[in-house]
Amino acid sequence: MAQTPANTRANSPAKTLAEKLWAQHTVTELDGGATLLYIDRVFLHERTGSIALKGLEAAGRKVREPGQVFCTMDHIVDTFPGRGDETRMPGGKDFIVTTRKAARAAGIHLFDIGDLNQGIVHVVSPEQGIALPGVTLVCPDSHTGTVGALGALAWGIGSTEAEHAMATKTLAVNPQKQMRVRFTGQLPFGVTAKDMVLALIGRHGAAGGVGYIVEFAGPAVEALEIEARFTLCNMAIEFGAFTGLIAPDEKTFSYVEGRPFAPKGAQWDAALAHWRELRSDADAQFDQEIVIDAASIAPQITWGTSPQHEIAVDGMIPDPAAETDTNRRKAMERALTYMDLDAGRPLAGTPIDAAFIGSCTNSRLSDLRAAAEVLRGRHVAEGIKAICVPGSSRVKAAAEAEGLDRVFTQAGFEWRESGCSMCFFAGGESFGRDERVITSTNRNFENRQGPGTRSHLASPTSVAASAIMGAITDVRTLARKDA
Ligand code: SF4
Repeated sequence: MAQTPANTRANSPAKTLAEKLWAQHTVTELDGGATLLYIDRVFLHERTGSIALKGLEAAGRKVREPGQVFCTMDHIVDTFPGRGDETRMPGGKDFIVTTRKAARAAGIHLFDIGDLNQGIVHVVSPEQGIALPGVTLVCPDSHTGTVGALGALAWGIGSTEAEHAMATKTLAVNPQKQMRVRFTGQLPFGVTAKDMVLALIGRHGAAGGVGYIVEFAGPAVEALEIEARFTLCNMAIEFGAFTGLIAPDEKTFSYVEGRPFAPKGAQWDAALAHWRELRSDADAQFDQEIVIDAASIAPQITWGTSPQHEIAVDGMIPDPAAETDTNRRKAMERALTYMDLDAGRPLAGTPIDAAFIGSCTNSRLSDLRAAAEVLRGRHVAEGIKAICVPGSSRVKAAAEAEGLDRVFTQAGFEWRESGCSMCFFAGGESFGRDERVITSTNRNFENRQGPGTRSHLASPTSVAASAIMGAITDVRTLARKDA
């Protein structure tokens, strides 16, 4: 038999971090190749969670361990100040009311509207210590892999799988290949984790991670604070990966300690001893390795309708004529038409209509602090609709405690309640047709932020700089003016 990384690995005692987590949670191997994995924690939100809870109830089944199941209100909730259960989405209130009723009946933890613990599921999960190093965590939401940044094995599932996980604490999962993405060197001035992961997707494609669990590693990853690591793992999903993860380190342990659902006392000591073992062995074999020099990365921005349609902010919009792959060329042509852009021109300087800072990618306190530093003492350009939506009610409160809300509002941003908001428009609110939006979110496909809306993905600091200038802007130039 030919030696491949997969079968060489199976015979090797050296394991990747993902393989260790997989083995530690294996209940049994199933016929057909899937593994039955033990699921430590389940997180729900009102859009898909209500369906799962109702399905469970209709089947006459119970949540096996309600204390390990959590639910928040984030996708459909209104984010305007003074909100209640009413939403702008027709029928949206029903999701909220149904979820609340079903969550209470099931006895699970609910982070409801008006609760300081409410927020976007992937922000709340680590904030509350629900996501922890070494756990398996699932949620009926694509970006659940965000919390892999703590060294958790976390992935998005469907509502039916959520029912299964709640009822049995197990899930059948197909084995995944192993990839490591190493960022060497140091990030240059003005470049963030968002730029790192956009650069990865731009260079290796939005399908580059399909079939893989992607471990991010290397000195530039180790240098990132925990909140920035969430951004990397969040966008692993836009790289096509099953999930992303990062080996936990001392920064991780400090971040986790004392959080409400993290272990305490003797359990903390035992957990810490276990967590310190959670890393890929030195000679572990990966099916694929990618190395990127962090020093080679500039602030990135998307020009098209896929995260892979991205360039350095000071670059030129690529010409589809130079693309040899027919499908890719057609996708580029269609994207340019949708985005109303011309190939061969600079992207910087393109006028925008709106700016959005929020989402599970970039709405944590460190994101808001960084954007506020760009905004401080400045005002968004005339006619720009600028919105900031903190990732959780706790992030919002912490930002307000240090005056960031005033920096945003004095700069001309709306300051909202927490939720997914216009990361997508299921909440019933959207940007307008043909409006060009620079956004700290993670998806830029057609109509994502509203019918006909044109979305450019970027870091929160790039969004802030562009809002001030009223056009796509290299944040480094703005920062240097203040230096
Ligand atoms: S913020 Fe956006 S990507 Fe994240 S969970 Fe909400 S809708 Fe999904």
